[in-house]
Amino acid sequence: MNEGEKKVVKKMIIIYCRANHKPISGLCQKCSALKNYAMKRLENCPFGENKPTCGSCSIHCYKSDMRQKIKEVMRLAGPRMLFRHPIDAIRHFYKEYQRNRLYAVTENFSRK
Ligand SMILES: [Zn+2]
Repeated sequence: MNEGEKKVVKKMIIIYCRANHKPISGLCQKCSALKNYAMKRLENCPFGENKPTCGSCSIHCYKSDMRQKIKEVMRLAGPRMLFRHPIDAIRHFYKEYQRNRLYAVTENFSRK
């Protein structure tokens, strides 16, 4: 379930950790805890395959401190993903874009 999304999140955390913490190998302790947490959230996501990307999800199932951290990761790693893993990144951001448009439409609709 959510294998594509998991792959993207994992890659982003790796990029973030390498840029910030310079681990000797793999991920530093904090980032591997964050990765495990994110993977667990994705596995338990009630939306399953049809989930929006976490950035635009309505549930926001991350605990606030983890959410803060994952936001940081996305901010730093998002643009870099475009260069290193363009296909994954484009798929991810396109999904987000579609989802946001959908929100904009429903928000306008409910305001009237
Ligand atoms: Zn790290």
